[in-house]
Amino acid sequence: MSSIGLSHMLYRDRAMPDRMTSVGRLEDVVSTAEDFDRVVLQSLPLLLDRAAGYTKRFLRETGQWSDDVAHEKFVLRWGAEYLEQFLVSGRSEVPCRPLFLLDSMVARQHSRPEPFCYHRDLLTPLGRFLDGLVGRAVVSRDALIALYHHCYGLGPGQVITALRLNGSESPRIYKNFQRWRESGWKRTLDDIGFTDADLQGLTEQQQRHRFNGEAERLLRFAQTHYRKSEPDHYPCLPRHQWEDMFLQGYGVEYRIWHLALCLDCLQLAWDLGLDGASAKEKPRVTLQLQP
Ligand SMILES: [Zn+2]
Ligand SMILES: [Zn+2]
Repeated sequence: MSSIGLSHMLYRDRAMPDRMTSVGRLEDVVSTAEDFDRVVLQSLPLLLDRAAGYTKRFLRETGQWSDDVAHEKFVLRWGAEYLEQFLVSGRSEVPCRPLFLLDSMVARQHSRPEPFCYHRDLLTPLGRFLDGLVGRAVVSRDALIALYHHCYGLGPGQVITALRLNGSESPRIYKNFQRWRESGWKRTLDDIGFTDADLQGLTEQQQRHRFNGEAERLLRFAQTHYRKSEPDHYPCLPRHQWEDMFLQGYGVEYRIWHLALCLDCLQLAWDLGLDGASAKEKPRVTLQLQP
């Protein structure tokens, strides 16, 4: 199942929660893949809570937990990662009791040597750079806005146009850029342990053919993973919904969060409803190493 499939179902189910009735059914044996899909898809929010809850407990028990936003977002996105794996592999485990199958899958993940490694390629310097930037964006608005610059080379004015922000929201974008250059950037590199030598290495690598192609490939992994930190803003939207959002003026938070973390939607929404006012071509990944 694709992540878009998961996102649509999470979105839909949040609108009509059916938690109490779902638990019972999830404890019963399901015998076919079709039954598995049906029962599980009706209770995604509950299963997400459960997977996130186990992850939180694991962090507590291993001394890795802190009461802050970063940790809350961490368990939400890992809960969603586990749920996604469960949706794919659970179908082939029938007959099974879905609730207990999820429990054992999560427990197995947590017993691995590196339980929170979502992609091996992100251990390279380029991968660490991207993972660090995108990971920071989950907890810092300045870093979130800075992604538009680092990933696509967009300036504040272009960000304001791309997000269709109005007059009162625009100054904040300039402030985000400014604070990022002044302090956010340096602090983030320090936090992820990215040294001047690492940066120099990447600068040399940047001259190579295919650098931005590789950056795009890794960026997509990072975006998909970190977007799961906010289930409410996670789902990709169809064209007409973006257009509607822009024309009606709602969903500002959705635009800022989702478009920073989704290349596909950014390209889809880029010139919707602008009547050709955005002469610039759709954004592509052109990694900027400096703020
Ligand atoms: Zn790892
Ligand atoms: Zn999207």
